[in-house]
Amino acid sequence: MGRFCVKVYGCQMNVYDSDRVRTVLASRGWEEVGESDADIVMITGCSVRAKAEQKVWSELGLYEGSWQKNHRPLIALTGCIAQRLGEKALARFPYVRLVAGPRHIGLLPDAIEQLASHPSSRINLLDTDPKEFYGLDFDGGDVTILRGNKYKAYVTIAHGCDNFCTYCIVPYVRGRFVSRGPQEVLDECRMLIADGVQEITLLGQNVNSYGKDIGLNFAGLLRSVARLDGIRRVRFVTSLPQDFTPEIADVMAEEAAVCPSLNLPIQSGSTRILGLMNRKYTREEYFDKVRMLREKVPDVGLTTDLIVGFPGETDEDFADSMSALREVKFDLVHSAAYSEREGTPAAVMPGALPAALRLERLNTLNALQDSITLGINQALTGQVFEVLADDFAPKGEGFLQGRTPQDKVVIFEGGRKMLGEFVKVRITRAEAWCLHGEVVR
Ligand code: SF4
Repeated sequence: MGRFCVKVYGCQMNVYDSDRVRTVLASRGWEEVGESDADIVMITGCSVRAKAEQKVWSELGLYEGSWQKNHRPLIALTGCIAQRLGEKALARFPYVRLVAGPRHIGLLPDAIEQLASHPSSRINLLDTDPKEFYGLDFDGGDVTILRGNKYKAYVTIAHGCDNFCTYCIVPYVRGRFVSRGPQEVLDECRMLIADGVQEITLLGQNVNSYGKDIGLNFAGLLRSVARLDGIRRVRFVTSLPQDFTPEIADVMAEEAAVCPSLNLPIQSGSTRILGLMNRKYTREEYFDKVRMLREKVPDVGLTTDLIVGFPGETDEDFADSMSALREVKFDLVHSAAYSEREGTPAAVMPGALPAALRLERLNTLNALQDSITLGINQALTGQVFEVLADDFAPKGEGFLQGRTPQDKVVIFEGGRKMLGEFVKVRITRAEAWCLHGEVVR
């Protein structure tokens, strides 16, 4: 057996997929080591934005030196970037020896072993039949999925997407929407709970479209997960506004384990731009969903994703996005300047905005949202929240971090013994990006 290293860029689905490969390789006797000691480095990369792709591409270039010197390590490239640029990577970098798309994750452990025994081979899995999930024996209880955090875990419930938003590469690189069977999802959750996981985040490009291809719905699955023995917290990401139903909000309101937090990507505050984006809702319909949600779950923490500088975005369209932020008052906005993705309809739309204008709008929007977020967070000072102490804070020795049910990061004093516990924390100070607090004994 060999020594391997895994590097992950991009979304939680990449993290989840990579953890599967780590688990299977480790169970077969492979040793996970630092990059400099690895025979094979698996890189899982993102393709959603040009910048993310460039980052991985330049990273690939950095192996040139060690390859010239000692012909190692070999690189296995996977994720959305491999689906899009895998063949180019095989041709460009002599040390990229294995490429597999996000839907070939299940084939990777065998392929990596094959590469280890035939280091001069080149393996291209891009055109093979998909295999997403491993036949890990969830019922057996003896397989522990390796993961970055002991107390929190992701569980993929669906992958792919059928929506074809005009700016998005995901349907092309991750394929059509496919739900995972509910029993398999529940078994995986049970296994994680038995292994000490307190918080599970259900994962998918559109989690609330879950089940539409197998005659089920997301509200039902969410309720079943929330009622599993031993589970303390359930979250889910990402939600599609048009598929966010009152039934899902009811489950959020009724099931104690489901956290009152939601990411509901608006993408633009302009109905005209939403039409060009092929988002299937208007500004008003989005606001209606938010009203419905807040009526049912009044303490919900609401975040969104928003793109500025989409082709043809006028000053008025941008003003609509700004006013949407003022109107909804999101807890947090994941904003981005529009980035062309080759092969998507938006990439060839007329009216592309200069990069400088996109950036200017992004800065203007972020300044507004920072002040909104800060105001919301400051109003929490003095309140007490239940926080899962899930990690050491980057602040240094003696500080832990965790999240409130609304998904806000809180930093507080605490030691190793407190990790994995739910603690009551009083908020003492607020910043736009995090809260500071003290444990209430
Ligand atoms: S819903 Fe739209 S933005 Fe989200 S993954 Fe599908 S195509 Fe991309």
